[in-house]
Amino acid sequence: MTQSIDTPPTPRTGFIGLGAMGAPMARHLHARGALVVVANRTQSKAEAFASELGVRVARSADNFADCDVVALCVSLDADVLENVAALAKVLKRGALVIDHSTVSVQTARRAAAMLAVEGIGFVDAPVSGGVEGARAGRLSIMVGGDEAAIEQARPVLEAYAARIAHMGDTGAGQATKSVNQVLVAGINEAVCEGLALAEKLGLDPERLIPTLMAGAAGNWFLDKRGATMLRDEFTPGFKSAHMLKDLRIVQQVARETGIRTTVLDQATADYAELVERGHGDADTSALIRLKRGA
Ligand code: NAP
Repeated sequence: MTQSIDTPPTPRTGFIGLGAMGAPMARHLHARGALVVVANRTQSKAEAFASELGVRVARSADNFADCDVVALCVSLDADVLENVAALAKVLKRGALVIDHSTVSVQTARRAAAMLAVEGIGFVDAPVSGGVEGARAGRLSIMVGGDEAAIEQARPVLEAYAARIAHMGDTGAGQATKSVNQVLVAGINEAVCEGLALAEKLGLDPERLIPTLMAGAAGNWFLDKRGATMLRDEFTPGFKSAHMLKDLRIVQQVARETGIRTTVLDQATADYAELVERGHGDADTSALIRLKRGA
């Protein structure tokens, strides 16, 4: 890609985790000419993605050795730490790992420490905005790390950000995401309960949802998931099992502060029940199933 004198060089970027969020984010990097190599736990997914875009598919961490930056968007804390341990052995000094997964503050700090001993930078950069935000390249990104690392990450983050907020040192991005998930939990509880009530009252969704959206009750979840949940469509989106994982992380954080966690506790219990009933892979809007009282 041609660079003008003023434009910083596009970092050679690798991407690990090509799920609902990661795949569209990696596509934005490709559109900017920054994506060189991808990996995913299920190898066939990475192979199909790489061959469609004409980038390399990694068979091991060694294949990321020539990257300036590697971004992760995997599932759990253990997935982040496993990838970071492998990358720490192969990335060059001065390279950077960006983690977009939602994990604990402690995991972010452990990842940063594992990389720092090898002279590799790290930022925790969880995202909000859903798959729609990822596809549109309009995510809100909450970043923790030192100033130099954030500046190194910026050209990558700009490929899919509506907003990049430097929240503080390592872990501050994940702390911010915890707060975000308390709000998401409460909104999901309220919208699913409200729409279950609307069904029982026989209200017409075509008139109900735009009416609610036009007033003080309007919100992202109602807008993006209201109509689909009323049609019993629960394709993720955001998997209920991931929501439960997030809420358990937030509960740990919140417990230490002594705040009253009524909303968080109810949402955690509800998503645990939903996952137990076999709906872990369904979108979080499947919570309406419980609210219907069946
Ligand atoms: P997803 O659709 O389940 O995708 C996760 C991807 O990561 C899958 O492709 C999975 O591979 C891959 N993966 C998991 N462990 C891996 C490992 N150890 N090594 C390599 N690849 C691995 O989940 P998602 O919705 O994209 O979410 C990803 C992360 O972002 C989660 O932490 C989630 O909480 C967070 N998040 C999600 C949303 C949302 O709206 N969906 C919004 C904000 C944040 P397989 O193909 O084998 O499953």
